[in-house]
Amino acid sequence: MSTPPAHLVIIGAGIQGASVAYFTSKLSPSTRITVVESNPKIAAHASGKGGGFLARSWGDGSVTQELHHRSFDLHKELAAEWKLKSYRKLPVLSVQPGSKKFKKTKSTPNWLDGFGGSTSSMGDGSDTAQVTPFEFTSEALLRSNASVLTSSTVSSISTSSSGDEVTSVELTSGDSIECDSVVVCAGPWSCLASTWFPTINLPMVGIKSTSIVWPRRPESDGVALFCGEDDEFNTHLEVYPRPNGEIYCCGVGGSNYVQDSDLKDYLYLDATTCNAQPSRVEAAKRSMHKMSQTYKSAFPEGPETTQACMRPCPPDALPIISTVPGYKNAFINAGHNCWGILWAPISGQILSEMIVEGRSSVNIEAFDVRRFGVREVQNRQGGRGRKKGSEQVGEQW
Ligand SMILES: Cc1cc2nc3c(=O)[nH]c(=O)nc-3n(C[C@H](O)[C@H](O)[C@H](O)COP(=O)(O)OP(=O)(O)OC[C@H]3O[C@@H](n4cnc5c(N)ncnc54)[C@H](O)[C@@H]3O)c2cc1C
Repeated sequence: MSTPPAHLVIIGAGIQGASVAYFTSKLSPSTRITVVESNPKIAAHASGKGGGFLARSWGDGSVTQELHHRSFDLHKELAAEWKLKSYRKLPVLSVQPGSKKFKKTKSTPNWLDGFGGSTSSMGDGSDTAQVTPFEFTSEALLRSNASVLTSSTVSSISTSSSGDEVTSVELTSGDSIECDSVVVCAGPWSCLASTWFPTINLPMVGIKSTSIVWPRRPESDGVALFCGEDDEFNTHLEVYPRPNGEIYCCGVGGSNYVQDSDLKDYLYLDATTCNAQPSRVEAAKRSMHKMSQTYKSAFPEGPETTQACMRPCPPDALPIISTVPGYKNAFINAGHNCWGILWAPISGQILSEMIVEGRSSVNIEAFDVRRFGVREVQNRQGGRGRKKGSEQVGEQW
């Protein structure tokens, strides 16, 4: 039997970090939890700017099937328990590009009154739903009673003299937070963990994508659109009307692939530097105006919000839900790619089990960080002080 930690530090206040905090607080109420976040606000990146589409059976037949099923069900339970306003079932329509006037059918939303190609139902909402990720993240953090330390960036970790136990997390400010358990939930920047823990490789690409949000129209029907690749605009829009009347669109094309060497230099970590591409906003606006005369007349100037954020993608596109080899009390929960909002509850639950009980109720073999190789470390030294890899680099780093 494992002993629950006295003080858990979670690196990153995105939806994954928030979910780990929530489930750990339920499983071990005596554990003190601190979430360290680089930005002044929680959910500053993909967990505040992602779509929030949830699909139960879309991963069927793959190693992630159990994550899809269990997390979809957990979202439903938590939304009811937390009374989330942004959660609802969401039917889905496939829309091909084209120039014909859309035909009105039972499954087309009232605002799809412009021009396009054929439409067909992809689901009636029995196994598809949505939640606005910011609402989930803030509610999970609130209910976890965690202390959230914003505007605080982790630069390294320190270990015991044996080198196999994390004893504190070091900040760029020079402050140090003592702890007896740590989880890296730093989204694309989780690749930094391979400099903090010299035993691991953690390859990651951040796929930086623009998204837009149209202003509220309370009468807009709740049907999501998955649009085919449209050569006129180079878009493949995913359109998610939200229960508050906003319409969120991603799939605007032109994403940039940010390599881990840049992520390790903290590129775009300051959310104010991670901006939308104006050419992609224009393309998405024209595509939406073509599909919806209603939106063209109501909002000729375009969307209200334009933004960008990064999808955390390991090379095999599978998440990393893992212990850190060679360390007794270090964990990783990152790289959830395009399903990080859907998989947040189950990942948080698995991590809480690993941290508190040393087990997992889901088979997570395929998600182990060891799949990228384990590094042999000579003369592992513990002790306080900043380290880059196994090298002592002093306070200035
Ligand atoms: C355009 C777009 C649409 C998407 N739509 C969907 C969808 O519909 N459904 C779905 O399931 N998923 C979707 N996703 C994926 C989902 O948004 C992400 O997988 C998920 O938000 C990742 O959450 P996270 O907590 O791991 O990372 P993040 O949200 O990136 O959070 C990580 C946090 O860690 C902080 N951090 C990083 N480094 C440090 C450090 N050294 N010290 C302190 N803090 C640090 C960051 O500031 C950040 O706040 C979408 C993604 C994108 C880009």
